[in-house]
Amino acid sequence: MKCLWCFKTEIEVTFKKKAHTIPKSLGGQRYNNNVCDECNKYFGEKGNEKYSIEEALKETFVISRKMLYRPEDGKRKIGAFKSRFFEIKERKGKKRLVVKESFRFDSQFQQRLCQNFKRGLYKMYLEELNRQKGLGYDSKYDVIRDFSRFGKGDLPVFYFERLIGMMMLFKREAETPILFFDRMKYLFSDDYFDEIEFLGHVFGFPVSIFDKNDFTKYLDKTMKIKTGFFKNMIMIKSLLDVDFTLKVMND
Ligand SMILES: [Zn+2]
Repeated sequence: MKCLWCFKTEIEVTFKKKAHTIPKSLGGQRYNNNVCDECNKYFGEKGNEKYSIEEALKETFVISRKMLYRPEDGKRKIGAFKSRFFEIKERKGKKRLVVKESFRFDSQFQQRLCQNFKRGLYKMYLEELNRQKGLGYDSKYDVIRDFSRFGKGDLPVFYFERLIGMMMLFKREAETPILFFDRMKYLFSDDYFDEIEFLGHVFGFPVSIFDKNDFTKYLDKTMKIKTGFFKNMIMIKSLLDVDFTLKVMND
């Protein structure tokens, strides 16, 4: 065994804990056997921050999960909605998001939370890529390892704003969310960039070192295949850039 993140083997580290690729608190049920206990622990730990990488993912996607969940979708309950930042108030079948005091709008707070969210997204990506396709050890993914696991450098994440509030969902997707690489034809992928769909959201990002030319090509190709489904692509700087409440579904 060799850890997907630190490349250490079972001689140096242990692989005893189940490393959920998608946080368990979000309903994730799959785990990656190639993640050592040390790396697994790292993503769940706060360190010097106010929240861990896993928490940054959970606190945000929990909103979309709640919005998409319909009781008739499954017998299992998704559990009470618990978020440190948000509250969902329901009245006459309408769900409304209320921002708590712990969610602050100052740029430092937003930046740090966004950074941890991005690192968490890359974490889910690499672990699921490895689990689903057996990829991930190639040195081209080192930029992801550096950013997500070791906090070095910065990588952009692009968010695609939907044109219409229609999305294909599996019956129990809100209950046990899945990370999709190529479910829909509008998801682009090449050597430099990849795209995923998760709980109704489409994200794109570089998966290796790229130059301006690669990016221009990516932008052109991805927007072409998204015609009719998405209106634009934004580089996320704050979590408010992401439509977590899926407002678009009610428009
Ligand atoms: Zn490791």
